[in-house]
Amino acid sequence: MAKVTYSDLDIIGKRFGKLTVIKRSNKRAPRGKRSVPLWECVCDCGNITYKSTDVLTNPNLSMCSDCAKKYATEKMRQKAGFFNGTQISKIQTQITESDNFSGVRGVYFDKKSSKWRARIKVKGKTINIGSYANINDAIKARKLAEEKYFENILDEYYANKDNSLSANKFVISAK
Ligand SMILES: [Zn+2]
Repeated sequence: MAKVTYSDLDIIGKRFGKLTVIKRSNKRAPRGKRSVPLWECVCDCGNITYKSTDVLTNPNLSMCSDCAKKYATEKMRQKAGFFNGTQISKIQTQITESDNFSGVRGVYFDKKSSKWRARIKVKGKTINIGSYANINDAIKARKLAEEKYFENILDEYYANKDNSLSANKFVISAK
């Protein structure tokens, strides 16, 4: 059993980003000509990983390698204007643009069923909202779905303080 030092007590059981420190391990990592001890940590995803104190305390690194890959991908997607799989910059266009003969995006006439159908694209998936005999019912359903899906995503997006796009202002049409 290794001797417990002050720094052990200071760090064991503490949480850093996604990681919680379990114990000091026998592993070490090189730092120039010296080496530093690695802490055995459990990630929020359940993975066990070994990190040095300087890595632990860096919020961009305090996660296991699996989570780091996801984090890097998410950062790239955010730079491209994506959040939670939805391209934020397209939300306004999706809400306000009219590109079919119903005059409302996501509402179209289905010749087969002779009904108005409403659909919405969220996180890359098209969700069928329903089909309606009356165009106004279809438009109403689409508007409700916009509120339900897009506004939730935008709220979540703006609530995320660690967001590289937070300086960008996207205005949602009140329509
Ligand atoms: Zn993880």
